[in-house]
Parts: sequence; structure tokens; C-alpha cells
Amino acid sequence: MDTKYIFVTGGVVSSLGKGIISSSLANLLIARGYRVTIQKFDPYINIDPGTLNPYEHGECYVTVDGHEADLDLGHYERFTNIQTTRANNVTTGRIYQSVIDKERRGDYLGKTVQIVPHITDEIKRNVKQLGNTGQFDFVITEIGGVVGDIESLPFLEAVRQLRWELGRNSLCIHLTYVPYIAAAKELKTKPTQHSVKKLQELGIQPDILVLRTERDITAEARRKIALFCNVAPDAAVQSIDVPSIYQVPIKMHEQHLDDLVLRLTDTPSKEEPQMGPWLRFLDKMANAQKPVTIGLVGKYVELQDAYKSINESLFQAATYDDRRLDLRFIHSEKVNDSNVEELLSPLDGVIIAPGFGQRGIEGKFVALKWCREHDVPTFGICLGMQCMVIEFARNVLGLHEANSTEMNPTAPDNVIDLMEEQKSISNMGGTMRLGAYECRLDPDSTPAKAYGKTTVNERHRHRFEFNDEYRTRFEEAGMKCVGENPATHLVEVVEIPGKRWFVGTQYHPEYSSTVLNPNPLFISFISAAIKYREEKEGK
Ligand code: GLN
Repeated sequence: MDTKYIFVTGGVVSSLGKGIISSSLANLLIARGYRVTIQKFDPYINIDPGTLNPYEHGECYVTVDGHEADLDLGHYERFTNIQTTRANNVTTGRIYQSVIDKERRGDYLGKTVQIVPHITDEIKRNVKQLGNTGQFDFVITEIGGVVGDIESLPFLEAVRQLRWELGRNSLCIHLTYVPYIAAAKELKTKPTQHSVKKLQELGIQPDILVLRTERDITAEARRKIALFCNVAPDAAVQSIDVPSIYQVPIKMHEQHLDDLVLRLTDTPSKEEPQMGPWLRFLDKMANAQKPVTIGLVGKYVELQDAYKSINESLFQAATYDDRRLDLRFIHSEKVNDSNVEELLSPLDGVIIAPGFGQRGIEGKFVALKWCREHDVPTFGICLGMQCMVIEFARNVLGLHEANSTEMNPTAPDNVIDLMEEQKSISNMGGTMRLGAYECRLDPDSTPAKAYGKTTVNERHRHRFEFNDEYRTRFEEAGMKCVGENPATHLVEVVEIPGKRWFVGTQYHPEYSSTVLNPNPLFISFISAAIKYREEKEGK
């Protein structure tokens, strides 16, 4: 069959969850046997979100091929269980960079280079890139931002042209918001009508409306919206708030969103979606009563999206173990010797978060010392692993000023040091050690047992590494390097064997954890936390 292109745009306000709707639709189409990919176009000038701090854009996600990507790609992978790549996330910056490179090469043969057609053509080329591989029946393209933004205009113009070129092989889903006005006790459809008008002014007629709402929108109100907005009466679908994002595919299927997409793109309908494993996960989620209490020690605790993939990985693992995740965020800047006991003793397990820079570092060391000495299941990820190493050096090896070159380039014992290939790098964007690398695990280690194998591929995003000069001293004192890259011998995993669970990974296992394929390290960590809780309760 021809590749079908589904465009997802947003109106009224941002943060409505275009990523979740795109992911839910992909999930349903995959469950029906189609081959689907989702891509995101972000209308900002940064080449990628790698240089954005989490306050700007939440977590930076990393694809297997080493692209620093929008966090929506994390949703795509968690919902579809299919890996994304660099081609799945394109920004205005990337589009302009490519056009300007072509201009410098002389590719435009003396023509004036303009937004239309050159920028829009480049956008169209990128939209079709994944479809042209022949690997996908559906390419879902999410356009970041809100209709009416100046920034998204070239993207919407490209969508308009593509809709015209592709005809029934494409459609547009517009996601809007239907607010409830408490004083009037009414749901208001006007913002949706205005937002559709805005889209129509740009020459795009949406085929399906997904209406985000906190209250049930009556069938009559939906018919009214459909009538005013030129969509089929059954094509105004509501997306009401649900306790978990993982319920959204089911809610969409109940309203036939997948059938609508097939019908409107003339796609022969295969079987009903095979949702068995997904439904089993939801069932476990609904029945998980007993909590498992995990603390996440990091410096972006007030930002719910900063550690998105870690939160989701913990949630998936807890759900598979029939537990309700009780996740507590602990501000690393606020942890000190006098409050650490009070903050950490209620926890069954502790995650030391990834990150960059000095802020909040000392609190991580205090937390780690307490966890190590009290034998609490502890998981250090990336910077968290590096902090594990530094804390051990300071308090067990007696190297009191041990540090990372990142925090103090002139410390006497930089047990975490800049990687050799990083020393000559001056550009910050896209130059870290990024993407999936192989790691060989010691067969007796906790991670090898968790994964059930000794070779794994996990994703990275860092510049600094365990300083190999200190390796023997660590190992003799009880912190083992149980995972390393076979080619470069970089240390990827450390563990203190004999502890309940004390593991640090230089890589980010959270990026590869999906609903249907949760990461084994999180499963293992959560089950250690549950065991520890039961021991505490038994006391
Ligand atoms: N700042 C550390 C480094 O660059 C860790 C990075 C991270 O936690 N992602 O090596």
C-alpha cells in the first residue's frame, strides 16, 4: 500500500498532549498490524534540544543513533515499542541549516533562496524521508507549537502543500481544547471553532478533531463542533483526562479514532487491534494497590518533565511487579547531614539522577553515603553513577578531595575525568558521547543477572568517564567495575556486590524502557526495593 501521512496539529493552547495522541494512534495502528513511525517537527531555531536546559524543554531524550531529541520521542518509543532515530525529530534550525548549506554549495543555481519554496520544500523532503524508505505504512507527523504561532507557519504551509499533493493518502488531525467555565457551568466550544478557522485560513481543513477536555462533552456538543468545523459527525473525538496516559489508546479506540483514520485514508482495514499485552499492563496498573516508595534525588524536582523517562521506567517496572509507584522527588540542593535520615529513611529505593554541573552535587554525595551505609537499594544513572564513584572515593578510599573534572578541573583526585576524545572539543551542541554503545557485563554482576545476558546495548549522553587509573583501588575496596565497553574499555557500570542493590550505570537505561518491553535494570531495582520494604515491614 502507499504510505499514508497523518499530520497532527495543535490549537488553542500548548501542552495538550499531541505526543500522547500521536503515540496512541500509532499504538492502535501497530496493534492492527500496520508498520508505523512517528516524527516530530519542532519550530525552534536550536538544531536539537541538546543545548536546551530542562527548564526550557523538559528532558532531553536520546535515540539509539545518538540524536538528542524532544521528549515526545520517548513517548513514541514507550507507546510503540519501536526505536526512533535522528530522522524522527527535525527542528527549524535543522531545516535552515540544511538550506543554508545547500545555498553555500551553490545548489540553488543562482536563485533567490526563500522561505517558500526553499524552506517549505526542505520541510516536505524531511516529512517524506521516513515514508520513502518503504518501511512504513503510516508516517505520523506531529507539528510542535500551536496554530497561529509565527514559528510554525512554514511547517503548516508545507502540510497544506502535502495534503494537496497526497490527497487521500494524507489527513490532518487537529487537537484542541474545550475549556469548562465553572461559573457558567458550561463547556465552551468557541476556542476550538476559532482555532479551526485559523487552520482553514492557512488552507488546511482538518479531517479529525480531538477535543481535550476535563469534562464529558455531550454527543450533541460534539456534533455541533463537527458541523461548525466541516468534519464528519463522528470525527469530533473527545480526549477526556484519564488517570494514566497509557489508557489513552483505549479511550481513542472506543471512539473509533483508528477506524476513522483507516476510512479517511482509504486504507483496507485489517483485523481489530490486538491489544492483549497492553490491556494486561493496564489491568495490572488498575489493580496495583500496595505502594513501593522510591526517592529521586535530583536538582530539577519542581519540573515534572525533567526526568520523564526515569519516572516512566520506574512506573512500568512497579506496575509489572503489581505495585503502585509512590515516587518522591528529593531536592539534591536541600539534602544535608542533619536531614538526610528524615528524608531518606521512608524510602524503599533511591535513584540518583543524571545531570550537569555543580549545583546540588554535594547533596547527592550526602544521600549516597547514607544509602551505602544503610544498605538501601540505590541506582545511580550517568551523573548519579559518577557521584557514586566520587562518594566512594572520598569516604571509603579516603581521597577526601576526590571529584569530577567537570566540577573541579584542578582537584587532586579526579576519579571522574574528561574522556580523551572530548579534550579537543569546543562546540557544545551534539558533541557528547551519544547514542547506543555495547557494554559487556561481568556474568556474576547484578545487572548481568537482571538482563539475563552479558552483552547489552544502552544509550549514552555524557562527556566524562570513570578514571581508569583508580580502577584497582576501587575494586580492592569493594566497588567493582562490572560493565565496560569492549572496544574502548570505558567503564559503563559499577556495583558494590554484597549490598542489597547498589549499581551505577554510565548509560541511561531509562531511554530504552517501554510499556511492552520494560528495562530489566529497573525491574531488578524495583524488585530489590520491594524486598527491602518487606524486610522493613517484617521487622
Ligand atoms: N555531566 C556528566 C557528564 O557529562 C553526566 C551527564 C549525564 O548525567 N547525562 O559526563
